[in-house]
Amino acid sequence: MKHFDAIIIGTGQAGPPLAARFAGAGKSVAIVERDKFGGTCVNTGCTPTKTLVASARAIHVARRGAEFGFVVGDVRVDIKRVKARKDAASASSSKGVEDRLRGTENCTVIQGHARFQSSNTVVVNDEVLQADKIFINVGARASVPEMPGIHDVPFLTNSSIMDLDLLPEHFIVIGGSYVGLEFAQIYRRLGSEVTIVEMGPRLIGREDEDVSQAVREILEAEGVNIRVNAKCISLARHDCGVAVGLTCEEGPPEVLGTHVLLAVGRTPNTSDLGLDQAGIATDHRGYIIVDDQLQTNVPGIWALGDCNGRGAFTHTSYNDYEIVADNLFNADHRRVSDRIQAYGLFIDPPLGRCGMTEAEIRRSGRRALAAKYPMSQVSRAYEKCETQGFIKVCVDAETKQILGAAILGVGGDEVIHVLLDVMYAKAPYTVTQRAMHIHPTVAEYLPIILAKLEPFA
Ligand SMILES: Cc1cc2nc3c(=O)[nH]c(=O)nc-3n(C[C@H](O)[C@H](O)[C@H](O)COP(=O)(O)OP(=O)(O)OC[C@H]3O[C@@H](n4cnc5c(N)ncnc54)[C@H](O)[C@@H]3O)c2cc1C
Repeated sequence: MKHFDAIIIGTGQAGPPLAARFAGAGKSVAIVERDKFGGTCVNTGCTPTKTLVASARAIHVARRGAEFGFVVGDVRVDIKRVKARKDAASASSSKGVEDRLRGTENCTVIQGHARFQSSNTVVVNDEVLQADKIFINVGARASVPEMPGIHDVPFLTNSSIMDLDLLPEHFIVIGGSYVGLEFAQIYRRLGSEVTIVEMGPRLIGREDEDVSQAVREILEAEGVNIRVNAKCISLARHDCGVAVGLTCEEGPPEVLGTHVLLAVGRTPNTSDLGLDQAGIATDHRGYIIVDDQLQTNVPGIWALGDCNGRGAFTHTSYNDYEIVADNLFNADHRRVSDRIQAYGLFIDPPLGRCGMTEAEIRRSGRRALAAKYPMSQVSRAYEKCETQGFIKVCVDAETKQILGAAILGVGGDEVIHVLLDVMYAKAPYTVTQRAMHIHPTVAEYLPIILAKLEPFA
């Protein structure tokens, strides 16, 4: 049996920096990875999708050349080169993670599947590893729900689509949420016919209705077909590929496509970890239950990243690492509940979100003010010929603190941080109002928008 000060399972967004922190403190650490180094974000999530978003955007802009004053011939997409660019970005990031880990003194890198044997031992490749502290960073994978016909047809997930090196003739995306919408727009811009099939009454149902509607308009303007209220989704083989049954309230009851992507949520990678051997508790969906400092119910075992159900983003996983490391090494008692919700939807133009939605604020019953401003009135957006979307900011009427914001439009994923940082500072919105911003930017409109705050209707 090999003993370490710490064992980390998984090389996602929290594991590698935590390994470096232990090693840097002179502690022996083993980090175990069963697949590609860097996990979801690097290999099948953020990095490849944002590389594809960028290719798709360049193609889209080239097609709009006449609006900007240039003419190109027929824009032809070389899907193999698009894929190669994406693969290179992922491979380079993954190699970077692996090289850094292997080059770290005191850090032992082990490739294989880790499984708990007890509360302080883990088995990998028939070898038993022991540690006083064990950190679980095993991430999640695409959910594959038991919908009728699911076992009769080939389907893609965010992982398997990474190997696709052809352009689907008709790409059907099941799931109108963050992952599905990004792929839908990517493939539409690359040249596929695309249909999004969503069970709920609108896209990205967690967002405010005006955000859902504006996103729908952006996608529909590019020719993406959208079928909501698809209450009973089923799959069947068809001569052209796959028939997706919908039983929608409107439109034909099925849609025929050549390829289907399942983007209907995530499942934590916890069922094959031997959690019961260690006595680690999960919730009914398999997420590891943690406290506000990410400790499981078993002393000496922590869970970080997507597998704890407290976040589903790269930055939440990395923030988990910071919370655990600061608690262990700096006596800085940071907590998950200190963080403010923030994320992006990386369609083009993107959506930047922070804090509560307007609907959540209304449900909370507090007195609030809101201001909304169309991107068409933002000169930088106009100059760039990208006027879709809007900015919405909600503020607490008493404290004057920002409660939440949505910036859908050019630069929305970056500009949102202006508001997010003021929220972290717990400063009133008037700070943003008094700041002098650079012209011409989207951010310079925030003071103007905040001057328009009015009580919720
Ligand atoms: C298509 C898509 C796009 C996304 N885009 C964004 C984005 O733009 N921005 C953003 O913030 N987030 C994005 N996300 C979410 C983001 O990728 C994840 O939230 C993030 O990668 C989670 O990281 P993690 O640290 O929890 O674990 P992961 O990155 O999932 O890593 C877990 C690692 O553990 C390994 N592992 C699992 N079980 C074992 C075991 N038993 N033994 C050994 N190793 C094991 C896995 O192989 C994996 O390498 C996206 C996700 C998807 C699917």
